[in-house]
Amino acid sequence: MNWPARVAIIGLGLIGSSLALGTRRALPDAVVTGFDDDEDVRATASAIGLCKVADTLAQAVVGANLVVLAVPVGAMGAVAGAMAPHLSPGTIVTDVGSCKEQVAQALRAALPDPTRIVPAHPVAGTEQSGPEAGFASLFKRRWCILTPDADADPEAVERVAGYWRALGAEVETMDAAHHDRVLAVTSHLPHLIAYTIVGTASDLEEVTQSEVIKYSAGGFRDFTRIAASDPVMWRDVFLANREAVLDMLQRFSEDLSALQRAIRWGRGDELHDLFTRTRAVRRSIVEQGQDDAAPDFGRTHE
Ligand code: NAP
Repeated sequence: MNWPARVAIIGLGLIGSSLALGTRRALPDAVVTGFDDDEDVRATASAIGLCKVADTLAQAVVGANLVVLAVPVGAMGAVAGAMAPHLSPGTIVTDVGSCKEQVAQALRAALPDPTRIVPAHPVAGTEQSGPEAGFASLFKRRWCILTPDADADPEAVERVAGYWRALGAEVETMDAAHHDRVLAVTSHLPHLIAYTIVGTASDLEEVTQSEVIKYSAGGFRDFTRIAASDPVMWRDVFLANREAVLDMLQRFSEDLSALQRAIRWGRGDELHDLFTRTRAVRRSIVEQGQDDAAPDFGRTHE
């Protein structure tokens, strides 16, 4: 029998809808049921034929072999608690939350069998949200990081890993605390910086809003893509991964001060050395297939 025969996806936003589409494409025999607490989201998901859409959380999870929680990280514990009485014995529960330590604690506190919990984080996304933003290939050739606790059933871990591989992802396993530190610097800090820059530019008095928008091709617009990400999702990420984010922010502030000093004292070599190193990082990302080599993010210049 193909596994999972029945998948329940809770939260039908960008990630949940991409999972529904990806699962139906990769595992056509699986029955995919979705649920979202927002009635409008459920109606849209039904209208676009995302998956079978349940009217209640209980109906969505009953009989499922695999439940994937794709709600904001601050809602994970409450959703897990509400569905717990309706889970069949042996059901594996996973999630897609962007930070893992706090989510894993919330799931362990709410669910009956900790050995069947396999937290996961697909390192893939866009700045869009909602059920119409999803696409089946979102996870293709992207990393999905699993952070199972030591007492997780190895069979459950392997099943969740196999599910993500079926969706086209590369799977890595990591300790939850380490995951949160790595993602604090590769994802959470860049979002914080983008939110700050866009906020600063829109608060400036001597530069008008229309000038900020008109001349945005100078670099600003690339930050606005990140700063357009879902406010609820990101509020929850910063609150849940507070320690690691504050730690990375401290390091960042020190490096920024060093750069400020180099500019003040005209130390061009220091600036040149740093910018040479950062250019090499970009090349490695392209070489490892984590971004397109096309200049200017592939924008057309006709
Ligand atoms: P999203 O597009 O905003 O979708 C989240 C959906 O969950 C919304 O439709 C929301 O409904 C629904 N929801 C909220 N609370 C719920 C509850 N208690 N029960 C059922 N549904 C609920 O967000 P997303 O980008 O898909 O993010 C979902 C998860 O994936 C988050 O944990 C995030 O950290 C993680 N993630 C996101 C990305 C990314 O780039 N976006 C990447 C990797 C992982 P409402 O309309 O009521 O808000």
